[in-house]
Amino acid sequence: MIESTYSHELSKCVRCGICKTLCPTYLTTRNEAIGARGRVAMLGALLAKRLHPTKRLADMIYSCMLCGACKNVCPAGIDIPELMYQGRIELRNSYRKTRLLRKSLKYTISRLDNLAPFLRACQKMFYQPLHKAGILRYIPEISARPFKESTQVYKNTKKIGRVAIFAGCSVNYFYPNIGRALSNILLSKGYEVVIFSGELCCGAPLRSMGLEKEASGLAQKNIEHFNKVRAEAILSLCPTCTMVIKEQYPLLTGNTIRNIMDVNEFFTEKKMLDGLEVAPRTVTYHDPCHLSYGLGVRDKPRQILRSIKGIELSEMKHADECCGFAGFFSLHFKDISNTIGKKKIENISATSAETVVTSCPGCIMQLETLRRESNNKFRVRHIVEVIDEAMNE
Ligand code: SF4
Ligand code: SF4
Repeated sequence: MIESTYSHELSKCVRCGICKTLCPTYLTTRNEAIGARGRVAMLGALLAKRLHPTKRLADMIYSCMLCGACKNVCPAGIDIPELMYQGRIELRNSYRKTRLLRKSLKYTISRLDNLAPFLRACQKMFYQPLHKAGILRYIPEISARPFKESTQVYKNTKKIGRVAIFAGCSVNYFYPNIGRALSNILLSKGYEVVIFSGELCCGAPLRSMGLEKEASGLAQKNIEHFNKVRAEAILSLCPTCTMVIKEQYPLLTGNTIRNIMDVNEFFTEKKMLDGLEVAPRTVTYHDPCHLSYGLGVRDKPRQILRSIKGIELSEMKHADECCGFAGFFSLHFKDISNTIGKKKIENISATSAETVVTSCPGCIMQLETLRRESNNKFRVRHIVEVIDEAMNE
C-alpha cells in the first residue's frame, strides 16, 4: 500500500467503535489497545509521529489475529487487516521476540520440501518425549509422506473435467489425509486431478510477520507456476490460502492465480454430491474466519452437510466466532488464544455433536489441541473428510 493511501485509509476512521464489537482480542481482554479501533488509532498516531515505534506498540499491532471480523462492519469501509499488515512492516524491527522466527522463516519457507524430513526427525527426537511428559502442547506429527511429494496427474476414464489442488502447507505436511480425501472424491466423480509439486507457501505467514517483499516473492512464483497448469479450477483446502491468493496477491503483485476456488464453492456449484448417505449422526459446523469473514462462504458447507442423508446439523452458538488459532498468534499470545479457543470448545460441547466439521486445517489444529486438553470426545474433521467417508460408507 502506498503511503498516501495508507494515510488516507487511517484518516477515514471516525472512532465509532463498531469494529471492536466483533474484535475477538478486544472482547477477550476489554483493552482498547488490543482491539480494532485502538489499533487503527495507534497506527494513525505512529504515522503522525505522535507515537514512536516501541516494543509495546509492536505487541499491540501484532496482537491482531487478522481474522477480518472488523472489516465488513466498518461504516467508513476501512480494510482494517490491510492496515495491520502495513503497520507490521513499520514495526517489525520493534517486535523483537520474533526476530529469530522471521530470520528462519525467510530461509525455510520456500525450502520446506527439503527440510520436512529433518524437521520430522527433530520432532520425533525432541518434541515427542516433551509432549508425552506434558511439557509441550499437542502438535500434529509431520507426515513421513507429504501430500505433494511429486507432480502427479491422475487420469480418469470418465474425464468430466480437470482440476488441480492447492493443498497449502498444513495439509501438505501435517494433514496429507485431507488432500487424499479430496483427490478420492474428485477421482470418483470423474475428474482428472493434478497435484503440483511446484506449489509454495501462499505467503500468509511471512506477511503476518511484516515480511511483505518475501511474501510477494512467493506469490509471484505461485502465480507463474499455477497459471501454467491446465485446469478448470485450482481447488484450495485452506481458506487462508484462498483468501490471500484471491484478495492479497493482486495487491502484492498486480496478478493472481486465475481460477483458485474454495472446495465448498466447487462442490455446490457442480452439484456433485447428491445421493450421499451415512449412519445417523449429529455434527456441528465451525466457520473459519477467512472463509466466512474473508470470502463470505457460510451457507455452502452447511448445504453440503445437510444434503448428506443421516447427518443432523446442530448449530453451535457463535459458530462464526474465531477459534483462537490465527497461526503464530497462538504461540505469541497464548493466553488470549486459549481463552478464545476454550469458549469455542464450550460452544461445541453444548451441542453434544459427535463431530465438529470445519473447512480449515488451521482451525483443525487448534480445535484438536483444545479438545485433547479438555478431554472432550468429539471428532474434529475437515469437510472433505466427511464427504469422503460418506462416499465410502
Ligand atoms: S482483524 Fe480480527 S483481531 Fe484484528 S482488529 Fe480486526 S477483528 Fe480484531
Ligand atoms: S468501525 Fe471503522 S470508523 Fe469505526 S472505529 Fe472502527 S475503523 Fe474506525
